[in-house]
Amino acid sequence: MVKRRKIYEGKAKILYEGPEPGTLIQYFKDDATAFNNEKRAVLDGKGVLNNRISEFVMTQLNAIGLPTHFLKRLNMREQLIREVEIIPLEVICRNVAAGSIAKRLGIEEGTPLPRSIIEFCYKKDELGDPLVSEEHITAFNWATHQEIDDIIAMTLRINDFLTGLFAGARIKLVDFKVEYGRLYEGDMVRTVLADEISPDSCRLWDITTGEKLDKDRFRRDLGGVTEAYAEVARRLGIIKEAGGAEILSFSQE
Ligand code: UDP
Repeated sequence: MVKRRKIYEGKAKILYEGPEPGTLIQYFKDDATAFNNEKRAVLDGKGVLNNRISEFVMTQLNAIGLPTHFLKRLNMREQLIREVEIIPLEVICRNVAAGSIAKRLGIEEGTPLPRSIIEFCYKKDELGDPLVSEEHITAFNWATHQEIDDIIAMTLRINDFLTGLFAGARIKLVDFKVEYGRLYEGDMVRTVLADEISPDSCRLWDITTGEKLDKDRFRRDLGGVTEAYAEVARRLGIIKEAGGAEILSFSQE
């Protein structure tokens, strides 16, 4: 194997140069971080599960005509993606109050919101990804008005689609975070969904018991993090058994 050129290393993923111009390889690590890097752990098999879950979701989104950077999964930890210029925003969509909005606005966790709410955070680790408004985004040229309109429309479409997809797996989609990129095709530029969609970036609650099946298990020291991610994968029909031999064999790759 030839050593690949590393383009970027983040908290949970690494990007390598792809096999063709305009492509990259996205590698899913087992590392987990929270509270702006203050809390860290290595969770055996998490990267494998996120790779599979994100592949599943992105494939379905591509199939409904929602453009994404995802091309194909290459192996247990890697996927081939299109190279995009990341728009420096974390786009959060919420259906139920939880996490920072519950704290910020004094709403009890679990309260359904009057309608789906989209929030923007500026992607800047040093600043702890602060909440920003459209005014900030356009004034500082992080994205154009047209891009913001496209991002809102795409995020609401993703929310509707994922709410149904997870409901079919008896899971409530409480909130999620997505990122977008600019895809340059000749002299055209398109906004496409980038990064990942996985239990690291969503709040997923069992529809009847409310049990958390997402990264809050790590943030709040609830234990059973990878087991919960495997449960999501099992309910979506991605893997056959949660916590079984299949997961162990995943994590060793
Ligand atoms: N989120 C994320 N990355 C971040 C911040 C938030 O994926 O850097 C996700 C988080 O998992 C949740 C949603 O975005 O599904 C809303 O997170 P919130 O603003 O409530 O932040 P938190 O409570 O995690 O600080």
